[in-house]
Amino acid sequence: MAHDVILVGAGHNALVTAFYLAKAGKRPLVLERRHLPGGCATSEEFAPGFRSSTLAHTLGPLRPGIVNDMQLERRGVAFVQPDPRLVSVAPDGRALVFSTDPGRTAEAIKPFSTKDAARYLEFCATIERIGAFLSELLGTTPPSIDSPSAGELWELLKTGRRFRALGKKESFALLRWGPMAVADLVAEWFETDLLMASVAARAIHGTAMGPWSAGTGAVLLLAAAIDPQPGGSSATAVGGPGAVTRAMADAAREAGAEIRTGADVARILVKDGAAIGVALADGTEILASTVVSGADPRRTFLRLVDPVELEPEFRTRIRNYRCPGTVAKVNVALRALPAFRGLPADAASSLRGRVHVGPGIDYLERAFDASKYGEVSPSPYLDIMFPSIVDPSMAPAGRHVMSVHMQYAPFNLKSGTWAGQESAIADTVFRTLETYAPGITALVEHRQVITPADLENVYGLTGGHIHHGELALDQLFTMRPTLGWADYRTPLQGLYLCGSGTHPGNGLTGASGLNAAREILKASRTQRRA
Ligand SMILES: Cc1cc2nc3c(=O)[nH]c(=O)nc-3n(C[C@H](O)[C@H](O)[C@H](O)COP(=O)(O)OP(=O)(O)OC[C@H]3O[C@@H](n4cnc5c(N)ncnc54)[C@H](O)[C@@H]3O)c2cc1C
Repeated sequence: MAHDVILVGAGHNALVTAFYLAKAGKRPLVLERRHLPGGCATSEEFAPGFRSSTLAHTLGPLRPGIVNDMQLERRGVAFVQPDPRLVSVAPDGRALVFSTDPGRTAEAIKPFSTKDAARYLEFCATIERIGAFLSELLGTTPPSIDSPSAGELWELLKTGRRFRALGKKESFALLRWGPMAVADLVAEWFETDLLMASVAARAIHGTAMGPWSAGTGAVLLLAAAIDPQPGGSSATAVGGPGAVTRAMADAAREAGAEIRTGADVARILVKDGAAIGVALADGTEILASTVVSGADPRRTFLRLVDPVELEPEFRTRIRNYRCPGTVAKVNVALRALPAFRGLPADAASSLRGRVHVGPGIDYLERAFDASKYGEVSPSPYLDIMFPSIVDPSMAPAGRHVMSVHMQYAPFNLKSGTWAGQESAIADTVFRTLETYAPGITALVEHRQVITPADLENVYGLTGGHIHHGELALDQLFTMRPTLGWADYRTPLQGLYLCGSGTHPGNGLTGASGLNAAREILKASRTQRRA
């Protein structure tokens, strides 16, 4: 079958794009360098009988329209929104439980501070209203700043009206919060360090920023646009995010897309300023009038496109697009569930969601400090899930799988390389965890450590950055990946971006892929008319 669109990479965003393009009558070919589709959202066996969410363990969550259009539930995906969503543990043995019901969470906050318990409900209401306003922006193409089209002006006008409808208090908060350091933001609301750190963690997750970094307020707002709950989303699926991308691949295939794995795109072929296809690492050339890259912007423009095909100024801007990875991933096979201090003995019911380790603002900032100087945090911030609680088939009977997001492990080390650092990372994680779950180390049967270097080399993430580029104010919305090119188009005719390095690009929502598909189809209709 002749293909008219080639997609580079089979991450969830590219699968979404391929699905919508195929639905519209295109014939997409998706080329993935790894042995399976899904990108950072896969569930794989890492020890005999043990499967984990290899990298991402929660879903953004996904945009509901995508779930419906791709009929993911009919394809067998069982989505789960664990409740409680989050348990934050403190070194003094206390734990703060974030339930989906804000009232229940407020009750849980009361023993820490009655004042914070009351403020929590107000904070939830405020952030929910702001989140709802921002949520609509996730599904829109950022407008051109220098020459907005009539359609873009109309959209801007509508956004302006909705902004005014927010009311003075919320619109003021929205303008103020974005540039703020999240540490200042949460301190305006709360006095309990554990609560402040739990909320602030959303604003630093996967970034090279600490809670005192300016602009982390914007990351919190972006997260609130996806899910306004202050403790964040723990949405997942039975079988982990890999079960979702498997179903997405099925949906794309059924709509008419072809997916080839083990297909490493070495070059995007360009002729007369237009993309005309790709060359694989084995030398095979495949031609198509449209190429869509689901790889990150730096990989796409600095590795896959010949430098002579791009204006030097554009290449400079992409070189300046920051991708400083700070995350390592540790998947652990456990003999049994650990007992966290401060949690009821029936651990499985409290541990269905995420566990947050990072009990104070200063703790988080110190964890970040180390990485600024190229060192691994001695006491890192950890975001943990036990995928085998939601799906016991992920481990042998009675055993469990623990998925640990470890931050900060800087891609660029002050001295040495990442080679051979796996044990040191795992040891740091378990030394840290022993404070909160004494005896956990003795439960370990196997540890898989994925370093920031692995994230680049194996999973294709430049700099090991989990979001395909920093979620900084100067790299968001109309500036993602760079000013003038936030509409999924690129300086090369027929070459588009659809991955996380485009707006909104924050986690497993599918929004970048959906927005890209819409723009590609729009451009295709315009070309047909011309
Ligand atoms: C350790 C880690 C933890 C995370 N945790 C969470 C979480 O809990 N919740 C959440 O919502 N998000 C999380 N994320 C972020 C989330 O996984 C990403 O935002 C999301 O997967 C991005 O999807 P994507 O389709 O844009 O790109 P990717 O998933 O990165 O997919 C890109 C694909 O392109 C392929 N590729 C690259 N170059 C080539 C080439 N030259 N030829 C062929 N194929 C190529 C890659 O192999 C990859 O499969 C995490 C990410 C990481 C790394």
